[in-house]
Amino acid sequence: MDYFNYKNNELYCEDVPVSAIAAEAGTPLFIYSKHTITEHFNQIKSAFGEIPLLICYSIKANGNLSILKVLKELGSGFDAVSIGEIKRALAIGADPRKIVFAGVGKSNEEIAFALDAGILMFNVESEAEVENINRIALQKGTVARIALRINPDVDPRTHKYITTGTRENKFGIDIQRAEDLIARLPEMPGLELKGLHCHIGSQITTVEPYESAAHKLIELYAKCQQSYPLEFLNLGGGFGIFYKEYEARPVSDFAAKIVPLIKASHCKLILEPGRYIVGNAGVFITQTQYTKRSGAHTFVICDGGMNDLIRPSLYQAYHRIWPVKSEIALGHAIAPEKRIKADVVGPICESGDFLGKERELPAVERGDLLAVFSAGAYGFSMSSNYNCRPRSVEILVDGDKWKLIRKRETCESIFANEIDLLK
Ligand SMILES: *Cc1c(COP(=O)(O)O)cnc(C)c1O
Repeated sequence: MDYFNYKNNELYCEDVPVSAIAAEAGTPLFIYSKHTITEHFNQIKSAFGEIPLLICYSIKANGNLSILKVLKELGSGFDAVSIGEIKRALAIGADPRKIVFAGVGKSNEEIAFALDAGILMFNVESEAEVENINRIALQKGTVARIALRINPDVDPRTHKYITTGTRENKFGIDIQRAEDLIARLPEMPGLELKGLHCHIGSQITTVEPYESAAHKLIELYAKCQQSYPLEFLNLGGGFGIFYKEYEARPVSDFAAKIVPLIKASHCKLILEPGRYIVGNAGVFITQTQYTKRSGAHTFVICDGGMNDLIRPSLYQAYHRIWPVKSEIALGHAIAPEKRIKADVVGPICESGDFLGKERELPAVERGDLLAVFSAGAYGFSMSSNYNCRPRSVEILVDGDKWKLIRKRETCESIFANEIDLLK
């Protein structure tokens, strides 16, 4: 579900023609739909409405401050994986008591900062980290609230780079070690165990992996409850979205299985969705610079590339691509004389720089705009300055209004941290 639709042969975001935004803001650019974000957030909230729930939006999916602000106003908390992300949440006035902090490599500085900020809890990923947080909390004369991130060893059958909950991954603590660690917690007075956490992966389109992770966590939760007044069970994020076919499951399918389990164990549920909220709420708009043929291949060369949207290059991810203006409806059959089969590529000096391969598209010409769909999550947030390319503009649309939520970088701002050191 999203609010990107073709009307009068051109793409609109909500009630604004995408071409009008591009004409003013330039390309490449990301455009987000506020209504889509709101709707996805509310879908999760109502699917799990029967149980106490804290949604902690995962900042790394898309950390733009204006987007975080929209989510804060909807009542969201935040899932951060670095001091920078905690600072992002605080910058928009997020309640620290709704911030959870995960990550396998939290530094002393990050731990100290999060303690001072008074976050809800640390999702702790190893024995060594537990000891370190205890040490820092004692030094500060405070107590750190923690949840143990359990690696439940379930395979969510998604891309290997976004699988996080099997024994082969670096994330979390396996259940046996967690039990041993929990037995040792009384020796660590700087810690208060508040719950258990897991996050098994991303772009998960089947319910079973959640169910089996939830079962394992709840069993451990019940055991821990005998010694600690636990409060939270955090099942992480990972709900999949629609990139190509209608492969994603509605969040209510996940809720149908999870809610009864949580009810029975009387805990508060935390979820950390990222992609589900913002993924389909964004498009990446790029302008065709040139088309060319090479051997049997046709290339559509765009002004946006892997530095802007790395998912196709990094995960072999599929994003629908279609001209912003087209008489042929998105994804529909194209008459042979109007059709091209092309690799849609960027300007970066890498053969791995592509947005889509072997795509059947309505013929495009120099200057035409292309929309790359479902680019709201892990799009801008994974972008870089590779090839000294200023990062993209971001726009938020709300009904018939749109506003700039990130200015385009300049080359000067990219090398600002180097220029004084030239002497
Ligand atoms: C990335 C991440 C998430 C969000 O994952 P999505 O697939 O975007 O929902 C949630 N929790 C943790 C710990 C993460 O690292």
